[in-house]
Amino acid sequence: MRKDEGAATTSAELRAHNLARLLRAVHDGGGQLTRAELTRRLSLARGTATVLVRDLAGRQLIEELSSPAGTPDGHKVPRTRGRPTGVPSAHPLGPVALAVDLRDDSFTMAAFELTGRCTVLDRREREAVSGTGMLADVAVRLEFRRRQFGDRVVGIGVAVPSPVSAGQMVQPTLPDWQDVDVAGVLGGEADGYAVPVLAGNDATLAGLAEARRGVLRGVTVALHLHVATGIGGVLLANGQPVTGAHGSAGEFGHMPLTGSSEPCRCGSVGCWELDAGARGLLRVVGQPEEGDRMVRAEQVIAAAATEPGSGQALARAAQALGRGIGALVNAQDPEAVGLSGLAAEMYQAAPDAVQAGYLATLMRFRRSGPPALLPSTLGEFGALTGASELVFDAFLTPRGLGAWPGPMAPEEKTA
Ligand SMILES: [Zn+2]
Repeated sequence: MRKDEGAATTSAELRAHNLARLLRAVHDGGGQLTRAELTRRLSLARGTATVLVRDLAGRQLIEELSSPAGTPDGHKVPRTRGRPTGVPSAHPLGPVALAVDLRDDSFTMAAFELTGRCTVLDRREREAVSGTGMLADVAVRLEFRRRQFGDRVVGIGVAVPSPVSAGQMVQPTLPDWQDVDVAGVLGGEADGYAVPVLAGNDATLAGLAEARRGVLRGVTVALHLHVATGIGGVLLANGQPVTGAHGSAGEFGHMPLTGSSEPCRCGSVGCWELDAGARGLLRVVGQPEEGDRMVRAEQVIAAAATEPGSGQALARAAQALGRGIGALVNAQDPEAVGLSGLAAEMYQAAPDAVQAGYLATLMRFRRSGPPALLPSTLGEFGALTGASELVFDAFLTPRGLGAWPGPMAPEEKTA
């Protein structure tokens, strides 16, 4: 009967929807929430939650532990009404997101499981002469890892040092990466099947990761700034990045926030990163702005306490950093500002200079309670973690789970 078919479809859809919601909550909770807590948060009936957990476990998506992963064995979860409640955690044979943090001088590759469990697989300095050669090297290693993890791999996330528009690097740091389609170069089939390849700007992904698993967790409207050679970042609303019409928003380093009028490599003039990024720091101490800028910028910061020239350079760059942050806070009204890369290092080495610049440019009405500046807790794993979250965002949907090849549970009886 038609009516029954319709009802069955609705019930199957509802079940798929609830499976995805529950698994999302397990993932977001980092495998630390008990079944009872998850049931309450998702407003599920206890019997429904039991059936859903059994289904996810049967499909090798989760396993229920007696205490949260990473806690001492003696630390068992509290009992609810006299009965133990398990902790749904990532299944040891569950889905894997391969993540790549691509930089112009190195790359890191890692495998992420649900709940954010991470294993670093490769970390290499650039050996190839060209950027194209380095991408070829990454592609070979990715293919090897896909064969290693087999059909557990549900996608590849790539953090790139460039604004990304429609999957392409539109203004990369290396000239031969210009307009490269990341999925086209790093995707393709391994052992006869393809997986989605999702690319994002490294600073945007660092912010996404801080909102999901780091210092910006639970912040309603957050601004994240990642300072490396340049300055990138992202505005996050309820943990979701606001990336613009083409996915390339957040190029805060290319705004004239500190009042200079020098030409920038980007084609604009007076860009903030000329004063506040690694290039700004090196320029003031009279070092060339080419080569291993990050390493040398970190050396300047480390020497600042004992060497006057470095100390002055740091003070100037730190104040320029603060001035730009004040201007951005005036524009965006965030609840807190996350800082990663050199921004966190500069803030920790010269907090007074950053604060002085910040308060100087904040509008008066904001000064009594300025948004907190919060150094990253994920550090160099930020962009990598954010890349994995891109993959899990696509996977943790009814459609994504529907394609998961784990063994199907026997048909559950809901009556
Ligand atoms: Zn610029």
